[in-house]
Amino acid sequence: MVDDCIFCQILKEQAPCYAVHETRYTKTFLDIFPASPGHCLIVTKDHYRDIFDATPEAISMVGHVSTLIAHTVKQELQCDGVGVFQLNGAAAGQTVFHYHMHVIPCHDGQELTIHSRSQGDPDDLQAMAQRLQACAAAMHADED
Ligand code: AMP
Ligand code: ZN
Repeated sequence: MVDDCIFCQILKEQAPCYAVHETRYTKTFLDIFPASPGHCLIVTKDHYRDIFDATPEAISMVGHVSTLIAHTVKQELQCDGVGVFQLNGAAAGQTVFHYHMHVIPCHDGQELTIHSRSQGDPDDLQAMAQRLQACAAAMHADED
């Protein structure tokens, strides 16, 4: 764990998040600057800087969870598409240096972005997290 890493602080519950899903190896929560409503981040529980630092096992766990979260946002938000993105290094646009995957609901006619300049409304984020959490839990039950 890295003290000045915001995602490590969230994982240690020293910073708040809008939680959507959790496994032994990953935590998924809403991006507070959503590129579109329902924008999720899947983060590894261990601190890895980027794809070059993360273990193949950790990367594979994030990949596995990304399919569940993609299905979840598609079903719950009825979006037309789902963007799954992962940035490595400042040159690639990475801004939080703790390995993570973006899952972004996309709609026809909407311009595709990964980063937004406007912070989500706390009540909207809370309501969205509850919807996605319930849907992800139901999907997980289907998997068993
Ligand atoms: P990246 O640019 O790929 O490193 O993505 C980092 C993302 O984390 C950005 O989209 C930010 O909006 C988001 N972010 C930063 N701080 C927080 C936070 N405290 N809770 C949720 N998302 C955050
Ligand atoms: Zn970290």
